Amino acid sequence: MILTAHRVELASHLETAKGRGLLVGLVPTMGFLHEGHLSLVDLAKERSDYVAVSVFVNPLQFGPDEDLDRYPRDLERDLSLLRDRGADLVFSPALGEMYPAGSPQITVDPGPLAKKLCGAYRPGHFGGVLTVVARLFGLVRPKTAVFGQKDYQQAALIRRMVRDLEMGVEILLGPIVRESDGLAMSSRNVLLSEEERSDAVGLSAGLTRVQAAFQSGVRDPAGLRKILAEELSRYPLLDLQYGEVVDPETLEQVGEAYPGCVVALAAHCGRTRLIDNHILTS
Ligand code: AMP
Repeated sequence: MILTAHRVELASHLETAKGRGLLVGLVPTMGFLHEGHLSLVDLAKERSDYVAVSVFVNPLQFGPDEDLDRYPRDLERDLSLLRDRGADLVFSPALGEMYPAGSPQITVDPGPLAKKLCGAYRPGHFGGVLTVVARLFGLVRPKTAVFGQKDYQQAALIRRMVRDLEMGVEILLGPIVRESDGLAMSSRNVLLSEEERSDAVGLSAGLTRVQAAFQSGVRDPAGLRKILAEELSRYPLLDLQYGEVVDPETLEQVGEAYPGCVVALAAHCGRTRLIDNHILTS
């Protein structure tokens, strides 16, 4: 596995791979990898010939009061996991290599989709995400890029950016990988205290209850939201920020829930903000 922190070196390795006719798949990450990330590497390996993984904690997508400083990092561990999983190349640039001119002057405006759900509470976040993803697409020029359903809104925005800007990258979505008790894997889970970790299960428990209610015939989004909030209120350390039932493409709240709708939520668990979602099935 090749490790590089430099754009020029990255370009030269990719040129060699592409020259051999290999189709490049990209998995962008912020590191501190877990099985969720690694499942995306597996998917990239299935759907491309040469898997590049980026590991970069992107300051552009953190607000001033957010957890950039607390964000967990362990590149050595990440490299060993990626090596075991068969990644071909890891690009792990320093800040000045990713943004050589300092903060970029030209950034991606994510438009109205970014005002919904998490975007309403994290102004600037999705602009930062799309800017770094656009930059990674420019550096790697992959055929395919793999993202997780865990960050549903992010994936929806990336698909939209690729479509609206004709970026010509195939976007694949990997399912949410969960801990055995249902908590969606996240690099941030390590920030939870023991008590917070045990209450964090309330997020997936809430989504499971909403799915059960939907299956038993509840279609009214207000009713489903109430069930979600009630379930989360059983966990004292959880503070629900939003829980919504939305259209999978537009992310608009739906008038009536239907199979394929997304139930998305964010909650604070102590100081740590967690997100989760579920696509309703009949
Ligand atoms: P991050 O390192 O948090 O920026 O995540 C990098 C990629 O991994 C994103 O596409 C995430 O959606 C995806 N991801 C994060 N957690 C999970 C999970 N539990 N299951 C599947 N994919 C995930």
